[in-house]
Amino acid sequence: MSVPAYEWEPATRDIAARAGIDPAQVIRFDQNTAPIPPPWAAEEATRVTSEINEYPDADYLPLRKAVAGYTGVSPDQVVTGAGADELIDLCAKAFLPFGGTAVDLTPTYPMFRIATAGREAALHEVDRRIPGFQPDDAELVWAARDADLVWMCVPNNPTGHRDPDDLIRAVIQAASGVVVIDGAYAEYSGDHWQNWVVEYSNLVVLGTLSKAFGLAGIRVGYSISHPDLAAALDGRRPPGSISTVSAALAARALREPERAVANVAAVTEERARMQNELERLGFRVHPSVANFLLVEVGPQARQISRSLMWERGLVVRAFPEDGPLADHLRFTIRLPVENDRLLAALEEVTS
Ligand code: PMP
Repeated sequence: MSVPAYEWEPATRDIAARAGIDPAQVIRFDQNTAPIPPPWAAEEATRVTSEINEYPDADYLPLRKAVAGYTGVSPDQVVTGAGADELIDLCAKAFLPFGGTAVDLTPTYPMFRIATAGREAALHEVDRRIPGFQPDDAELVWAARDADLVWMCVPNNPTGHRDPDDLIRAVIQAASGVVVIDGAYAEYSGDHWQNWVVEYSNLVVLGTLSKAFGLAGIRVGYSISHPDLAAALDGRRPPGSISTVSAALAARALREPERAVANVAAVTEERARMQNELERLGFRVHPSVANFLLVEVGPQARQISRSLMWERGLVVRAFPEDGPLADHLRFTIRLPVENDRLLAALEEVTS
């Protein structure tokens, strides 16, 4: 069985070279990252460099304690990894036997499909239907009943919407296996999963430092779950996939979440403005509770994205031509001045 590859937009240096601009002028609206890092990041990174001839302690206890403090669970419920992406991979390895069955709700984050294929497992893809991106609840619950693993992205990337609690509960209660909730954007939707992982022993919730915390480059993510599931994940984990520098930065950010809270507030306000402006330009904008907007721009979507990227250095997310989002683009909400550049360029290329 062949494993599908994750498809990224091109690298910043290649875009800059082709657009004839400095790489610093390229703006990435495609990765749902935060526009600026924490102000203390550089200083914190140099503080720990005296220790980097040694491996980090393999239990990452200070980092796990910081995650535990931030999420309201105990350290034995926490597993850390190199981004939520590594945790997705570990979940597949720990909970999806070779040749087993997984479920996801499409369109969604492509790593679920990739991790499932890596286990040579069958994937039941329950369609989300436009408008509203709601699945057929009965089909989903039925599929969850027989699956080894159910992947749910809450809020969902790339749609930006959040499935209702009732549906999520129905899936967890029906599932015979493990349910993984990818909460990469949980700070934006205001979700706290602490009580859920206490209530449900078959639930794993993933989080990341890459989005609201503004630290995508350090590659740190985590899971919270019942301690037994945490132990199963831990058993699949390589001993040192998070660097000493990254672990220190992540722990500090988690102990000082005020900055993430401020970032979320700013993005939320700016998202409402962007939604209005994009609608004013005549586009249909799907409601979002995350730090991005999914926008229907029409059959020229790929042409628009290429023109924004190769001529102007503004990188947006386009979708496969044969998929349900072929007419859509996804825009990360960034700083107002950056968003204004995107709006002006969109107006230019579509008029
Ligand atoms: N899950 C979702 C839903 C995402 O959108 C992303 C980032 N694009 C990730 C996980 C990956 O997160 P990380 O940077 O922590 O690996």
